[in-house]
Amino acid sequence: MEETLSFLGDHGGSAKIVAGGTDLLVEKPGGVECLIDVNSLPLDYIKEEGEGLRIGALTTIESINGSEILTGPVHVLTEASNVFGHRNVRNLATIGGNLCSSVPSADMATPLMVLDSSAHIASLRGERTVPLEEFFVFVRENALEADEMLIEVRVPPQPPRTGTAFAKIGRTSVDIALVNVAVRLTLGEDDVCRDVRIALGSVAPTPMRSARAEGLLRGKRLDEALIDEAAKAAFEEIRPISDVRSSAEYRRDACKVLAKRCILRALERARGGPD
Ligand SMILES: Cc1cc2nc3c(=O)[nH]c(=O)nc-3n(C[C@H](O)[C@H](O)[C@H](O)COP(=O)(O)OP(=O)(O)OC[C@H]3O[C@@H](n4cnc5c(N)ncnc54)[C@H](O)[C@@H]3O)c2cc1C
Repeated sequence: MEETLSFLGDHGGSAKIVAGGTDLLVEKPGGVECLIDVNSLPLDYIKEEGEGLRIGALTTIESINGSEILTGPVHVLTEASNVFGHRNVRNLATIGGNLCSSVPSADMATPLMVLDSSAHIASLRGERTVPLEEFFVFVRENALEADEMLIEVRVPPQPPRTGTAFAKIGRTSVDIALVNVAVRLTLGEDDVCRDVRIALGSVAPTPMRSARAEGLLRGKRLDEALIDEAAKAAFEEIRPISDVRSSAEYRRDACKVLAKRCILRALERARGGPD
């Protein structure tokens, strides 16, 4: 670890970490003089800590997909990993690489955001923790300084009576997302929506929360009309672009449909329905 961090410190922006290489070796960014293969570092783990979780940056998407400890609300990570690329990609691709690529379509970003996760970062100067929502800065830009490495993702304990859901639309079921949505919904004793977090991917320069949709649902007893209204609010809040994968109009409509589906599924799970 110390050797990795000192390489990063010495080479600044011209050094790049290679984890699975499924983004870096496809993207081949310019100006890179030094590749640091970190695969022998002991950062491939999913550990329970109290009622929360610590997931090492080198944990592959396939390990997340097969993990038996991801039950209850954190099962949303399994739901997302299940439609992440095909198995060959999942065997190489890491959770750390997915977050550090910092593209708006990253399938691990939205579920981790709704779980209120944070990124634990290290450099030779010390360690720090950044809430995931502050980690993403712009397309392919994040909070990491040139000498820093993502070490692990920390997921806090989830409140009782909480349900989550993830949904994605891609060209095929395992393609990069045209839109992805994750929702975490917590019910109070009186069946009122005590808290809700809605994260939207591939509809803005970074994965984003829909504050307006969340505000409409929080503190209310949910019915289909209100959920429709919240999905429409998400639709109005996003600023998607048209690109080779999809038109902005399609992304908007897809976002509305996925937001509604995820809210309904998360609500059912908060009421005790199956994962
Ligand atoms: C065919 C194909 C299908 C794909 N399908 C999907 C999909 O369905 N969903 C999806 O979200 N993505 C998909 N991807 C994109 C890619 O697989 C993921 O983003 C993957 O998680 C990247 O992880 P990696 O370990 O391969 O990262 P790498 O390519 O090794 O690294 C990516 C970037 O992150 C940096 N980095 C990596 N680890 C760290 C760290 N610990 N600290 C600091 N910086 C770090 C690297 O320097 C590099 O800049 C697909 C890619 C391919 C080629």
